[in-house]
Order: sequence, then C-alpha cells, then structure tokens
Amino acid sequence: MNILDSLRTIVQEVNSARSLPEVLTIIVKEVQEVMQAEVCSVYLFDETDQRYVLMSTEGLRQESIGKVRLAMGEGLVGLVAAKEEPLNLQDADKHPNFAYFEEIGEEIFHSFLGVPIIHHRKVLGVLVLQQQTQRRFAAEEEAFMVTVCAQLSGAIAHAEATGALRELASAGRGKSREAIFHGIPSSSGVGIGRVVLAHQTMDLASVPARYTEDPKAEVRIFRKALRAAKRDMRNLGVGLEDKLSSEELALFDVYIRMLDDDSLGGEVVEAIKAGQTAQSAWSSVILEHVRTFRQMDDPYLRERAADVEELGKRVLGHLLATNTPKTPLPRRVVLVGEDLSATALADIPVNQLVGIISLKGSSNSHMAIVGRALGIPTVMGAVDIPWTELEGQELIVDGSTGDVVSRATRTLRRAYVQRQREEKTLIEGLEKLRDVPCKTSDGSSFSLWINTGLRQDNVQSLRSGAEAVGLFRTEIPFLLRSSFPTEDEQIAIYREHLEAFSPRPVTMRTLDIGGDKDLPYFPIEEENPFLGWRGIRISLDHPEIFLVQIRALLRASEGLNNLRIMLPMISNVPELDRALALIHRAYTELTEEEGYNIQMPPLGAMIEVPAAVYQVAEISQRVDFLSVGTNDLTQYLLAVDRNNPRVAGLYDALHPSVLRALKIIYDQASTVDCQLSVCGEMAGDPLSAAVLLGLGYENFSMSATSLLRVKAMLLNISRKGAADLAKRALRMSDAASVAEFMLTALNQLNSTESGAAS
Ligand code: PEP
Ligand code: MG
Repeated sequence: MNILDSLRTIVQEVNSARSLPEVLTIIVKEVQEVMQAEVCSVYLFDETDQRYVLMSTEGLRQESIGKVRLAMGEGLVGLVAAKEEPLNLQDADKHPNFAYFEEIGEEIFHSFLGVPIIHHRKVLGVLVLQQQTQRRFAAEEEAFMVTVCAQLSGAIAHAEATGALRELASAGRGKSREAIFHGIPSSSGVGIGRVVLAHQTMDLASVPARYTEDPKAEVRIFRKALRAAKRDMRNLGVGLEDKLSSEELALFDVYIRMLDDDSLGGEVVEAIKAGQTAQSAWSSVILEHVRTFRQMDDPYLRERAADVEELGKRVLGHLLATNTPKTPLPRRVVLVGEDLSATALADIPVNQLVGIISLKGSSNSHMAIVGRALGIPTVMGAVDIPWTELEGQELIVDGSTGDVVSRATRTLRRAYVQRQREEKTLIEGLEKLRDVPCKTSDGSSFSLWINTGLRQDNVQSLRSGAEAVGLFRTEIPFLLRSSFPTEDEQIAIYREHLEAFSPRPVTMRTLDIGGDKDLPYFPIEEENPFLGWRGIRISLDHPEIFLVQIRALLRASEGLNNLRIMLPMISNVPELDRALALIHRAYTELTEEEGYNIQMPPLGAMIEVPAAVYQVAEISQRVDFLSVGTNDLTQYLLAVDRNNPRVAGLYDALHPSVLRALKIIYDQASTVDCQLSVCGEMAGDPLSAAVLLGLGYENFSMSATSLLRVKAMLLNISRKGAADLAKRALRMSDAASVAEFMLTALNQLNSTESGAAS
C-alpha cells in the first residue's frame, strides 16, 4: 500500500471508530505499522491538570499509559506542544529537554519525531515516533506525520468531546454529570426542552441510538426488512445475469447468506433482544463489520467493506420505510439535526419549539435567521455534539453564548431558568417603547421595518410596531412544501401577508434559492453553491417559475396596493434589466389583456454582491428603492462562507472593509432619488445599527424579535454623535477594534445622556 492509501485507510477507520480510546489505538497501531517504527505514541492534553498525558502507545509499556504526564514545555513532548511545530531528533537523549521516564523504558530509543496535533489553533496533543537506531526521520516521513495529525485532529477533538457523554450513557442512568458542548451563538435566549431529531437519513453512522420496550415487535420489523432486502438481491442478480461473470454473480448469494440467522441477521436479533431498536441494532452491527473488513490485510477482503456497507444501507432503507409508531412530541422541543434547514420546521408546531441546534451551518445561515425571526434560541455549528445519542434527553440551549448543556446539574439548571426570567423581564421592559416615535435624541427620524417569511411570526411582527415589512423572504413558504406552489397557491400565501400588514408596505423579495437554501423538490448540486446558481440567476434561467411568481404577487396585491417587489443577488445591470422587463411584461398582460385592476408596485434591487456596490449609480437609476443585504455582502467581501462554522470567526459585518462598502453605497445612492434601507442581520444588532445610523442610513429592517432592542439604542443616541463615531470606525484597521470602540463610546454616550436627562 502506498502512503496515500495508508492515510486514507487510517482516516476511514478513525472516522468510523466509536470511542476516543478506539480512535487512539487505531492511530498508534496503523502509524507504527506504516512508518515501520518501533514506537508510536499519542499524548493528549488533560485540561484538569494542564498536562500532556500518554494516552496510547504501540511499543512502550502499556502500564505507563495515563502515568506519564508532561507540562507545557516539559520534556520533548511538552516542547513540541509549546513550539507548535515538529521536532525531529537523531540523538533525543542528548537534547536538553530530554526527560527520562523509567516506567516506559525508553532509554534505548535515540531517534525521536514529535508532531503537534492542532485543532482550531489549540494543541490537543502530540504524536510521537521513536526508533532505537540513531537516525533522523526523513523529510517525507515527517511530512506524512504532519498530514496524519492535520487530518485526524478534528476526529480526535470530536471523540474527546463526545466521549464524556458516551461514558455517562453507559455508566447507567440517574446520575447527573453535565456535559457542555460549544457551537456558534445564533439566536439569543435560553431554551430548555427535550431533543427531537430532525428527519432520518440513509447514513448508517447517523442512525440514533434508540431503545425499545417491545423487542418482539422490533424483531418482526427487522425480519420484514431482511426479506425485502433479500428479494432485492435476488432480483438484482437475475437482472444482471448476462452482464456479470459467474464469480460476481456468486457474490449476490454470499450477501443473501450474510443476512441469514447464523450470520449478521442472528447478531442483530441478539442486539434487539438486548434492548436496541431494529434500526439501531442493525447499524451498529454493520458498522462493526465494516470496521473489521477495513482492518484486514488482504486487499480483496478490505474492499469488501464497501459491499457490507452497501448491504447495510439497503436494509436500513427498508427499515426506515417501515412505519414504526411515532413517539409523541415532547411539550418543549429542542430540534437537533446534522444540517438543519427551515424545511425541518414543517414537522414541529412552532409553539412547542424552544431551541434549535444544527451541527452544520453558522450564525448567518438561513436556519439561524429563521431561528432569530421566531425568537427561538439557536446554536449552529455545534460540530461536536453526539446528536444521534441525544434523542429524548433534556438539553439547555444557550443561544447567546452557543453553549449546549446536557444532564445539567440542578444548580446550573436553576441558573438558566433564572436567566430565562430575567430575559423575559427585559423584553417586557422594552414593550413600553412600542409606540414611542422613532426619533434620535437630536430629533432625526428613522424607520424600523421587519424581515419575515413565516406565517408564525406575523403576530409578533405586527405587535412590534414596525412601519413596514422591509424583507419578506418568499423562498421560506416554498421551502416548507413538497412541490412548487401553483399561481393560485402563491396568491393565497402572499395575500395573507399583504392583508395582515395592510396598509403598511410589504417588500416581497422574489425567490432567492440556491446557496444554503435548497428546495427539497428542486435540488441543486454545486461545488460552490454561494458563487453559483442563486437568486435572480435561477429566476432568469427559469422564466416560467419567475413569471408565475410575479403574476401571483401582482394579483395578490389587487385592491391592497401595499406591495413592493425586490430582486435578490443582482450582480450586473443586464440581469436587472431583464428581470424588470419580465415584471413589466407580466404587469401589462395582467392589466391590459386579462383586465386586472392592479397598481404597478415600487420595484427594488438588493445590494449584496460587491459588484453591485460599485454600480449603485446605474442600478438606482432603474429602480425605486435599494436594500443592502449585509449578510451576503459580508460573505462576498470577506471571502468567508456564511454557512461554514470553521471560518465563522472571520465573518464580521463590522470589518472596516464592509463599513467602507456601506459608505460607498450610501454616498452613491444619496445622489439620486432612490430610497435606501438595510435588511441584512446587521440592522438588527443594536451596536451595528448605531454604526449604520452614523453612516447615514435611516431605514432598518430586521427580525421582529430585534426591533425593540434596536429602537432602544437608536432613541438614545444623536445622529450627529453616531456620525462622529462612524467616521472614526471607518478609519480603524479591524473588526474587533471597531466593536470595542463602539461599545465603549456608546456606553459613555448613554451614561452622559441619561445623566443629562436626570
Ligand atoms: C442578505 O444577504 O443580507 C439578505 C438579507 O438576504 P438573505 O440573508 O436571505 O440572503
Ligand atoms: Mg442575501
């Protein structure tokens, strides 16, 4: 096997391992074998005593595991960790940092190669190779070790984080030892409820660990699935008789036999009798066999791992199709999923939803935006949560810090309940601002609008006292369906919202799918979805979809006349012209040919792509209003995928480049008579809204839950003061400095102004 193949095998095995000790054993065994070294050991950082501990070894005495502990900078291992770089020595024992541990018996090993295992800039541990002969490890060997460590650091971090919870699960019930996981704070507030897992997948590793009270029924379900899978196999074999060799055809018989009682089938039945559900037992038995096959020396047998996995998925498919009785929803639901999108909300009544957790995605993913719109505490990018094992457990979701707590101690739970009460009081305190006119402390007017798209937040939106809907994301109702809505169905959706807000204007944005918003019935597979087929690009390529939407919007507005139509993702003038021409065509057809009495609505474009920033002049001459989408503008300007938790720390709308772009937009738009607003999430953050006010913006559109907080901020500052602050912020070099400066300045401003008022 070449080195790349070895690496692939190690990564595959590690990824399918079920526990941290298993991960570490695989690493030391495989690396020792591939590198043909006498010793391979892994040391991991122990938070409790701040030391690097020998966790697994091949070649040193097993009794020394857990006993050898080195502080940062101590010994060669501690030195590798401190310097965060590999150390390759041919005479390790002569190095000043060499520390001798009798219990591991390493005095005979002269050569040493230590490589740090780094995950998200943190040194998790050190992987070490040792050799008796005095030699320097070759550069290629060092490169291989660096690659292994880089590839495995995520898996180690994940196994470490989830290990604690698994230990608890197997150690019996009743004991409360909390585990805290960290994700990206995405919608503030605290939610406490029981886990419901979103939709099932065909992935064996994602099958939740579930237990049954009725093993007999589960065995029946399992046998039925096996019969169906065997039938599939036979049919497949028959259909392929003339295409496959006799040896290949014989494989089908082998697979069918593998499903028998004296083989896999029997093992699974035993696991079901021991308490697991059919799905859960099947996936764990299959994964175990896949791992065994992958570890085999014989390449032919190793490749059979893929066949067993395929077989596993086939049976799983039949198991998922069996209608097992659904357990009733808990009263308070924390919805957890690997990659949640608004589609998942279709199955859960929103009034029961108290928390949302997604392993993938980031705070500007659309799931997070929907969470904020509904005021539901949301944590995204919680990559280390062992989600398949949490069903039914109580979790605390802290959407303000990104913490997720399972098995909380009573004290911690009480503290969170107290936080919930305080937040409720705070929100109630803000209610009194609802009817206060929107004027800054020096009398300058501003407008607060809302972003919506879900029927469920209409009530809250109306109660917030908003003057208009600045952004209605029409794709959200599309996401919650199983096929494209017809013209009449769309009319009903739009009309309901236009009526609810009438006479206030409602800005309906045309379908903005693509990126992280895939319609279940219109999947788009792309390498770079955010740079690909998105928003207006899809609408222009599918005029039959776009025109139906425009007709529905226009017809829904008949007699109400409070519609505004907005176009997303405009990146050049010709596409804007084409879209406007289609809108005018639909309008003419409806009014002149079909006799509808409809007013032409104001038309607008979003400024959310850097190219549009520099063409605001041309764009604004063609439309009645502009709205800045800071969510996309930030991702495109900073080259940071808004949906990727790995780079979430780099995503910051207060980056001076974003502020400078916002200034360019404002300056260009103010030379023409074109209304300007901001509808990205930035407008809903009080501190950022103050910066926007300072840059000249007057119209802010945000989720209903943010409105009164932003109002409280803007009522308290003067336009002139904000302009001075923004001027200084524009000259700063980085986002953190802007945030710190604004926070300090606004605190001072508020205390001076409240001092002056008293
Ligand atoms: C934006 O990009 O800022 C925006 C408002 O649109 P969305 O978040 O729906 O992409
Ligand atoms: Mg956008």
